[in-house]
Order: sequence, then structure tokens, then C-alpha cells
Amino acid sequence: GHIGENLLAPTLIAYGTEEQRRRHLPPIARGETLWCQGYSEPGAGSDLAGIRTTATPDGTGGYTVTGQKIWTSLAQDADWCFVLARTEPGSTRHHGLSFLLVEMDQPGRIEVRPIRQMTGTSEFNEVFFDGARAAEAVGGEGNGWAVAMGLLALERGVSTLAQQIGFVQELNEVIAAARATGAAEDPVLRARLVRQWAELVTMRRHALRTLGTPGDPGAPSVAKLLWGGWHQRLGELAVEVRGEAGTVGPQPWSPEQPYELNPAQHLFLFTRADTIYGGSDEIQRNIIAERVLGLPREPR
Ligand SMILES: Cc1cc2nc3c(=O)[nH]c(=O)nc-3n(C[C@H](O)[C@H](O)[C@H](O)COP(=O)(O)OP(=O)(O)OC[C@H]3O[C@@H](n4cnc5c(N)ncnc54)[C@H](O)[C@@H]3O)c2cc1C
Repeated sequence: GHIGENLLAPTLIAYGTEEQRRRHLPPIARGETLWCQGYSEPGAGSDLAGIRTTATPDGTGGYTVTGQKIWTSLAQDADWCFVLARTEPGSTRHHGLSFLLVEMDQPGRIEVRPIRQMTGTSEFNEVFFDGARAAEAVGGEGNGWAVAMGLLALERGVSTLAQQIGFVQELNEVIAAARATGAAEDPVLRARLVRQWAELVTMRRHALRTLGTPGDPGAPSVAKLLWGGWHQRLGELAVEVRGEAGTVGPQPWSPEQPYELNPAQHLFLFTRADTIYGGSDEIQRNIIAERVLGLPREPR
């Protein structure tokens, strides 16, 4: 329930109406409703303002949504999706967008097509909206960009505080494997494990500090840059400490038979994506360069 609990719930607390909070927060807290994030489109990823999905008022306070989203994590399990859509016809870039709440169980109006990843599993999807009904706009019609950016700051920044409980467990598991295989005797691997631990402590301190300094324009991007690369290097270590055995799969691989990976291999492959989703490393560096360091804007 990470997307509902850590991304949407705090966004509703900040931007939602009392009615939206009463309706959605209790089932999120009880783990009864799962959410997915409908931002990216085939023509709108890093350049999110290129969104083309449209939503038109349906006369009852809700909207009718038409368009395509892509890379929508866990849409196959989600009960609801928050969708960034263009509600003002003819508007461009970040103007005229609204942040809409869409129930996923709308046969014939919403289609979810899984995308197979190199892990062999399908955690993300293409989602097609064909006249799907959306109940309400969070933060008011046309204010979607501000709401969407508020949510992204949570995704890149403070939500990583809870994520680090998982990071600690993963690092401990890699250290245990290094001891078991004897890799911990290798001075280079040993030094990398220590560095990994020291960086995790530093990231945790940074995440805690961001709780007390809301509005710091660089903090979410600093957090995202640090944890994305850190987690990727942990995935590499998870395989390396197991030596040659780390690269052998539990069963033969063939196109017909979906392959299985052990948890270390899954971590290694999945963490390739950590420097892409939630805004790529290049985008975080641009934000820091332009908004914090005052460097010239990159040419468009
Ligand atoms: C595992 C995973 C899960 C995801 N889950 C979701 C989800 O649940 N919901 C959702 O909405 N999206 C999701 N995404 C999509 C993700 O947010 C986008 O992939 C990301 O924003 C990059 O957009 P893009 O893929 O269109 O790449 P592009 O924007 O086309 O970028 C391609 C490359 O060009 C670089 N680039 C782009 N612009 C610039 C620039 N101005 N300067 C320098 N370099 C630049 C990028 O860094 C990247 O390396 C997910 C992605 C992954 C990998």
C-alpha cells in the first residue's frame, strides 16, 4: 500500500477536502484500498507537462477521462488511481491540469495491460481510459500541477524515511551473505559494505532533517539522487558477494517458461529502475542545478 499510504494520503491531508479525506484515508490506513499513480504517458515522462489525457466535466461534479498512461506500477492490483489529466481544453504545459481520483473497476472504460520487465515479472502496466468516470478533483479544477508536484516531493523525499527500514533489512541480508560466502574477507568488498552502511546512516539523517524543513527546494531531489544510486549499488553488491553462484538462476530459462530469480538477483535487476522512476537522476540534477545552485537553465 506504499502508493496510497505514503504518497496519496499525505497529499489528501495537504490539498484534499474534508469529504475526500473522510472517504479515502480510513480505508488506506486499514489497508483495504490500494492505489496507483497515473502520471506518465508515452509522450510525457521527464517532461510531465506534456500530458495529453483529457477529462471533461460530466455535469455531476465528476469527469469523463480519456487517454493513455504508461509505466503505472501495480495498476493490476489497484482499486483506485490518481490521474493527472487536462481539464481545460486547449491548455498547454502545466496549465489546465487537474488531479483526479478514478476508481479502477470500470470494465469497458479502463483497460490495464501488463508490461513484462527484465525481472520476468510485470509490476507495471499500460492503462487505457476510454470515457472512464472520475469522481472529484483534488485541490480544485485546474490546480493539478501544484498537487502533482506536492505529491512528487513526498515521493522523492520524506516517504523514503519508511523505505529505509527496508533498506536496513536488505543491507543486513547482504552483509550476512558476505559473511557466509567468505566475501567479507575480500578487502575491496569489505570496504564497499562499510561505505554502504555509512551512506545509509547519512541518508536516514537527511530524511529525518527534511521532516523539520518543509519547503526546502533541493531536499527531495537530494534524497532521490542519494537513495536511487545507493539502492542500485546495493543490488550489485547483493549479487557480487555470492560470487559465481550469484549469477546462476534457480531453474533453466526459456522464453516459454517465465524464469525465476532469487531475491538477490531480483534486487539487482529491479534496482536498475531506481534511478529512473520518481524522476530520473538527470532530472534531479537539473532541479538542483537550476533551483538551488542558480546555474543557467539547460537549453531546450
Ligand atoms: C519501475 C518503474 C516504475 C514506474 N512507476 C510509475 C508509476 O507508477 N506511475 C507513473 O506515472 N510513472 C511511473 N514510472 C515512470 C517514470 O516516472 C518515468 O519512466 C520517468 O519519469 C522517466 O520518463 P520516461 O521513461 O518517459 O523517460 P524520458 O523522459 O524519455 O527520458 C529518457 C532519458 O532522457 C533523460 N532526460 C530526459 N529529459 C532530460 C533533460 N531535460 N536533461 C537531461 N536528461 C534528460 C532521462 O533522464 C532519461 O535518462 C515508472 C518507471 C519505472 C522504471
